[in-house]
Amino acid sequence: MYLGIDDTDSREGMCTTYVGLVSILNLIEDGYYIIGYPRLVRLNPNIPWKTRGNGAVAIRFGRGAGERIKIGTYKGEDIYAYSREKKGSPRFRLEEFADHISGLFVVEDENTNPGIVFSEKKLREFLYWRAVRSVVELEEVETLLINSKAEYLKFKLGRGIIGAAASIAWRARRKTYEVLTYSRESDRYVSHESAIALDTLFPTTFDNYDYQNEYLAIKPNSHTPVLFGIRGTVPDDLLKAVETVESSPYEAFLIYETNQASDDHLVRKKIRDVRPYESVILRGRVLSKPRRIPGGHVIFKIGDSTGSIECAAYEPTKQFRNVVNSLVPGDTVEVYGGVRGDPLTVNLEKIFIEHAPPYRLKIANPRCPVCGRRMESIGRNRGYRCRRCGTRAGESEAEYAVVVRNIEGFHEVPVIARRHLSRPLKLMELRKQ
Ligand code: ATP
Repeated sequence: MYLGIDDTDSREGMCTTYVGLVSILNLIEDGYYIIGYPRLVRLNPNIPWKTRGNGAVAIRFGRGAGERIKIGTYKGEDIYAYSREKKGSPRFRLEEFADHISGLFVVEDENTNPGIVFSEKKLREFLYWRAVRSVVELEEVETLLINSKAEYLKFKLGRGIIGAAASIAWRARRKTYEVLTYSRESDRYVSHESAIALDTLFPTTFDNYDYQNEYLAIKPNSHTPVLFGIRGTVPDDLLKAVETVESSPYEAFLIYETNQASDDHLVRKKIRDVRPYESVILRGRVLSKPRRIPGGHVIFKIGDSTGSIECAAYEPTKQFRNVVNSLVPGDTVEVYGGVRGDPLTVNLEKIFIEHAPPYRLKIANPRCPVCGRRMESIGRNRGYRCRRCGTRAGESEAEYAVVVRNIEGFHEVPVIARRHLSRPLKLMELRKQ
């Protein structure tokens, strides 16, 4: 049996993963077993009405069998899941269960529209792909749930059933894990040094610390009960890693299986086919020299055989803007990012620079071969003339430097600007080995 939960929090507080923890504790208390790791499923990162990271939670539960797996602790007691679900689970009453958790929903925020979905079987996978890559209508999901004999509860607009259903539909083809610690206290210390140490102690973890920007990535900045979260590819390493972080006390931790760092949101496309709110991979030629606009954003244009589109490395992407700034027209690139705005603009997460050959940069006008003075330009691409003796020279006689950039290959935004779904290069490289 599956439960999906979404849209329970606001920017002022709470977190759907905490509602997930409380749900698990309640299910266990009601005599159910948790099956497998709970799931934190990130959906379309370009949805305008998301609170933060567009994450929904799915929990499988029922009668447990097979291996017992530690998935967390609560007030010092271990929380376990089972590797398999046995037939014949006790009957589940959604309304009764909802009474246990709905007190946590932050319903006074107009953007918070919680939804809970209960389904005896997994929902069809296409719903996940639609919800991670495009915009899904509430009515469409309701019809699908009714046809799948799933039950659902909507609070206010109930938009949360979209994410809740999509999280049940996720098949975990490319997955990572995150251990989240929770505290409701105001004392929220997490040590930088112990987060930095994770990189060497546990190489299967990633995005712990941003060295370039001295940013502690395991600690959220927003109002949330999450004290810190460590991401990794091996759940047993996360169980050990969480013990090594020095922080204020926390009441619980929980390991989620997630589609974070999967790149599932990205679709390879031709420029003509790009639509707003999608995330795309586009291959093209740089058409315009990158320009810096107020606010520190860097913008350039690429084109393919079907059209052209703007690409942006926004200010929060920090040092990543330097490599983008060194592109010149004619370079070939593959850009990765979400599409927003009017005109449509790709908000860069990664770039693969396929071909960026050395180019000649004019550094001075030629010297007059007769009198030795610097000549002056007659006009753009029209050559030079000596002011004193009238001698003329062509464009190619100016003094040039050869600029070698060494920028071919992959570049990504720094950890501080990383999107949950974006696959870090570290993981792309691990896969190649
Ligand atoms: P929370 O931690 O509460 O989940 P969040 O940043 O994940 O915060 P939500 O508050 O859940 O954002 O808001 C996202 C809303 O968008 C949810 O109601 C969810 O059902 C809905 N949603 C998610 N993906 C899509 C999609 N592809 N199309 C339409 N709506 C979506």
